Amino acid sequence: MTNKPVFSAQLEAQLRAGAPAIFIHSAEEARVDQLLIALQERLGLKRIHEWNLGHGWVDFTNKQPLSNPDSGTTELEHALLQLLDADLEQTLILIKGARLALENNRLAIARLKQLLNRIERGHAIGCSVILVSESVCIPASIESQVTLLPLPLPDREDIQALLAQADASGQLTLPGDLVDLAVSGLSGLTASEIGRLLRIVSLQTPVLTEQGLKTMLHEKEQIIAKSGVLALVRVDEAPDDIGGLEKLKHWLAQRAAIVSQLDKATRQGVKAPKGVLIAGMPGCGKSLTARVAASLFQLPLLRLDIGSLLGKYVGESEHNMRRALNMAEMVSPCILWVDELEKAFVGMGGGNASEVTARLLGYFLTWMQEKTGAVFVIATANDISALPPELLRKGRFDEIFYVGFPNAVEREHILKIHLRKARQPVDGLDLPELVQQCRDYCGADIENAVNEALANAFIAGSPLTQTHLAEAIQSTIPLRETLREQVGKYEELFEKLKLRPASEYQGLSVAQMIRMAADPNQVKREEVASNPDCPDDQLEKLAGDSQRSVVKAVYENPRCPERLLTMRINIAQNSPLYDVELLALACLNDNAPEDLLVRQVKDGQVARELRAKLAGRVKGPMLLQLLASDPEVEVRRGLASNPALPEVMQLQLLKDKDTSVVAALILNPSLASGAERQLLEHGDSSIKQAFAKRPELTEAEQQLLLKNADAALKIMLSLHPKLAHGVQLLLAKDPLQSVRLNLAGNPGLSKATQVVLAGDTYGAVKVALAKNPGLCLDDADQLSLKKYVLENRHLAGGFGVGVGGSLAGVFSWSGKTS
Ligand code: ATP
Repeated sequence: MTNKPVFSAQLEAQLRAGAPAIFIHSAEEARVDQLLIALQERLGLKRIHEWNLGHGWVDFTNKQPLSNPDSGTTELEHALLQLLDADLEQTLILIKGARLALENNRLAIARLKQLLNRIERGHAIGCSVILVSESVCIPASIESQVTLLPLPLPDREDIQALLAQADASGQLTLPGDLVDLAVSGLSGLTASEIGRLLRIVSLQTPVLTEQGLKTMLHEKEQIIAKSGVLALVRVDEAPDDIGGLEKLKHWLAQRAAIVSQLDKATRQGVKAPKGVLIAGMPGCGKSLTARVAASLFQLPLLRLDIGSLLGKYVGESEHNMRRALNMAEMVSPCILWVDELEKAFVGMGGGNASEVTARLLGYFLTWMQEKTGAVFVIATANDISALPPELLRKGRFDEIFYVGFPNAVEREHILKIHLRKARQPVDGLDLPELVQQCRDYCGADIENAVNEALANAFIAGSPLTQTHLAEAIQSTIPLRETLREQVGKYEELFEKLKLRPASEYQGLSVAQMIRMAADPNQVKREEVASNPDCPDDQLEKLAGDSQRSVVKAVYENPRCPERLLTMRINIAQNSPLYDVELLALACLNDNAPEDLLVRQVKDGQVARELRAKLAGRVKGPMLLQLLASDPEVEVRRGLASNPALPEVMQLQLLKDKDTSVVAALILNPSLASGAERQLLEHGDSSIKQAFAKRPELTEAEQQLLLKNADAALKIMLSLHPKLAHGVQLLLAKDPLQSVRLNLAGNPGLSKATQVVLAGDTYGAVKVALAKNPGLCLDDADQLSLKKYVLENRHLAGGFGVGVGGSLAGVFSWSGKTS
């Protein structure tokens, strides 16, 4: 059944039941006229008196004024007086522009009430007042006597009739294949809007074309926007514009697949998807998801702003809701995005707020339950606590998803998305570091930080760098910080309600961490305290935990907030809160403020062991400099091993009177080339030997070491696991047998070196080579080496090479070739 017969049947039923007044909510006066004419006939009414704002009483059939407009009697309050003596039996009194006529017009309202009383008391049988207006205004004093009936928009059948009319009158010819599209394009509009739109299109082209349809859509956007309750949103987002929210994206893609073949799906018993409620934190991508859904479903997206529905007149909010939902049904198939759903249920001033809320909710729920049109609802909400429980019950929406703050993996995706949108390469960036820096951030915060970094880079006239991004992240105050209390409340609630998470959690979500931080199980609290993704506020809470292991984990956390560390480092030695172990952890944390550490060291507040540990890991130049002149060798030795030590300070430490400091420097993996050259060229044998122990040695360094090397150094070198090929050959020909013997056992030898050693005149070298696990000689060479070893078994013991047991290994290893 279409809306149209339902409406006229409702109207007829009201009139037959003797309703004193009916408020028809519609801007379509011509349609109302037609309906009333039909009713007049069916009900056998004697007459229709029409009043309008412009002329007062007019002839209903030809709209000619019945009284002189200058007589001063056209206003409603005067016009109503004229009915006092009139015969009103079987009469409809039609008042058009009712809202403007009644609004703030106490006299008109009072006289209308008298008239309604008269009808109610049976003084005018079969008489009803029909109020018509494009917006609802039912004064409280007559509310109980007035029935509100909204006139639905034209349905597909009506639109088809209007198009046929335009076609028949020669206004716009419609090719058969475009009729369906034209009907869809015009649905959701009033008859007069459709008429106007057809006139606009016909001015462009007398025959409807694709271009004409585009014009239609464009005009429709304007009309929908003008309605004030809905907006047609243009989208160009794709699923990979959303970072994370994998589960939600997957779920939506599945519903889109059903909607795209709805007929087939329903034939197989699949229920048409109704919609989804996406609840969650501000700025985390709820609206973005609604937009992406429109791309996935390939359907128009209508945005319903709940705030704009709320009206000040009785029935206005419900009417607006009805109008919006009606319009969505007419535009269907479409996606109706109900943004900030909770707004319908909170913050409504006025005494009748709860009544209106209940009615709005009731209407919305019934509509959700009964809607037959292909309208897929995406409702988004931040404050789910404001939503009535009926809405959250299973079955209203197909699913309720919770969108939380992004985890580390998601933050990286979001960063990449916004860098990609800005056409910025990510190659040279340390993304994991940036991801850590914005651990409390929502998607919108990350987007803001990227924009800020881009602007700063532009102003500086340089390409975007890690520093721009890091600084922008640092200067962004995340929403989670600004809305701390609110967010905390939501997080707790979402956890309690056990809503389905939109994210595929890799690691812990913020909500999970908050729950774990309050868990009675200390292992859980410890786990969250050591999680680098743990929010600052939770870490601050855990720093006061009763379990020491939890507190220690907080200070060891690489993301422990500077504020906490500062407080801990500042605790004086005579304070009962002073704790050497926690102080050490705080000082050693990379986030500890350098200036504070410098002051503490200068003031003698940091013990030797802690200074030595600090020296091995600090990065700040002031602290490094201060520790370089520390009187304690242990501290300077720690500094020498610090990978962040700049070259100037390495050179400075090279001159240290304590050789252990220099030895530590040699083993520093970040030893600069200048310092290295100094060591290799001017260092004594012990320094060079220490150098030869470095796991990474370039060929040039090995060659330098070999120059003028004594036996001990050569042996040291011959054992190096990464001995360069050229150096191997030199050592293989070294006159010292002990050097060649040690070299023969080195598993990293090249084949060429092995060939040289296999021909060594010294038997023990051959034996050692045969034992070498990296032996890779050709079969024939291996065979003769084996033979030699077998024949000269006595050599193994004689040269102190443990051949006995290992010979068996050699044989079994080379057995395959024998
Ligand atoms: P609110 O509740 O405040 O309306 P919301 O959850 O609807 O917030 P959006 O409006 O979708 O958040 O997000 C704001 C902007 O932040 C988006 O336009 C997008 O650019 C960015 N953003 C948020 N979340 C993500 C995400 N997961 N991936 C990519 N961008 C995101």
